[in-house]
Amino acid sequence: MSYVFHRTALGGLPVAASGQGAEIIDTEGRRYIDACGGAAVSCLGHGEPRVLEAIQRQLSTLDYAHSSFFTTEGAEELAEHLCAATPLPLEKVYYVCSGSEAVETAVKMARQYHVERGEPQRRVLISRHQSYHGNTLGALSFGGNPGRQKPYAPLLLEQRKIEPCFDYRYRQAEETPEEYGQRAANLLEAEILAAGPDTVMAFLAETVVGATSGAVEAAPGYFRRIREICDKYGVLLILDEVMCGAGRTGRFLACEEEGVAPDLVTLAKGLGGGFQPVAAVMCTSAIHETFAKGSGSFVHGHTYSAHPVACAAALAVQKVIRDDRLMDNVTARGADLAARLGARFGNHAHVGDIRGRGLLQAIELVEDRAGKTPFDPSLRIGARIKREAMDLGLLVYPGAGTVDGTCGDHILLAPPYNIDAQMVGEIVDRLGDAVDRAIA
Ligand code: PMP
Repeated sequence: MSYVFHRTALGGLPVAASGQGAEIIDTEGRRYIDACGGAAVSCLGHGEPRVLEAIQRQLSTLDYAHSSFFTTEGAEELAEHLCAATPLPLEKVYYVCSGSEAVETAVKMARQYHVERGEPQRRVLISRHQSYHGNTLGALSFGGNPGRQKPYAPLLLEQRKIEPCFDYRYRQAEETPEEYGQRAANLLEAEILAAGPDTVMAFLAETVVGATSGAVEAAPGYFRRIREICDKYGVLLILDEVMCGAGRTGRFLACEEEGVAPDLVTLAKGLGGGFQPVAAVMCTSAIHETFAKGSGSFVHGHTYSAHPVACAAALAVQKVIRDDRLMDNVTARGADLAARLGARFGNHAHVGDIRGRGLLQAIELVEDRAGKTPFDPSLRIGARIKREAMDLGLLVYPGAGTVDGTCGDHILLAPPYNIDAQMVGEIVDRLGDAVDRAIA
């Protein structure tokens, strides 16, 4: 009997005992390849000695200092490292402890920016249908996931959503990707005009959509057009890179690939690699200046922001990524993974799409490949595959199909950045068996 309760619908869970490299071992001695890093978190696998050593060193010198009294050398060095890791003009870092806190912080900073510039009426946040930006009440409200939101209605903050659900092309065969990208982005302009341009605060979106639709990249030109529209109407662009940022796609920020600079970007999971709860908002100096001037800077913050141990862990993670040239490995193994998924599932009767970037890849399951028909969500195909995969010693991240049928069940893969080619092959072999067992 377990006294711990989380997502109890999952039922009896194995008891995790230890982690080593790309594997987790349970108390029965069963080994699982961690092909999703939990939820795209463990970017160095488990038990990286250089990170453990940095955590121990930090613990033995300073365990905690509240960020309203002190900054620390570790926090400063990490921030310098993060700003240097991207060519984009993001020059300041605000630390928090989770992805949801990062998203809420970014939205509060956007609000403060407009207030300080004499436009307090800019209160409307626009995001996308089906999007996920966290599970605290604020972050949940910013997203567009009806299933998660319904039990907690009414939600917070005046906001609007744009269609379609994602920059999702698999079912948009009648348009070229470029046409689709422009049409999808132009919906933002229509929504800004409908809301009243001087009321809109910010547009919030994931650069590469992770959990809700399974590694969906933006259509070519989508974010460039989004940036133009934001600039035209004075709307801030917040990119949520909690899952796809910090190197997961082969660049430090995924939006570097789109050639688009956001005003604010959120980071979490891969930032600390799972070692300590650490998350961050990176922003331009213009946002920082208005935040620092405004009253929000006196009242916003969290008890564990810039925790010295969290910063030491994250800095060590980032240094391992740099020293071991892991971005190159993400790109190379990402290409391997895509090729192997293609070879195993390219003609599979129930795999409709294989997609992703770097080491954030997914397969989408369909009932009928020709018609691209998603499975009935009540069949919980993704969850079934997850269970079969666990039985075969593989951890994968399932995503349920969307209620409107635009996206079917999918399986997300997010293995560690230091994975080798042989392990990539093993992941795809076991996933193939799990899919066949689950849809037998
Ligand atoms: N944004 C995105 C894109 C996410 O994927 C997640 C977590 N899955 C969050 C925000 C929320 O992060 P957390 O669970 O750390 O609050």
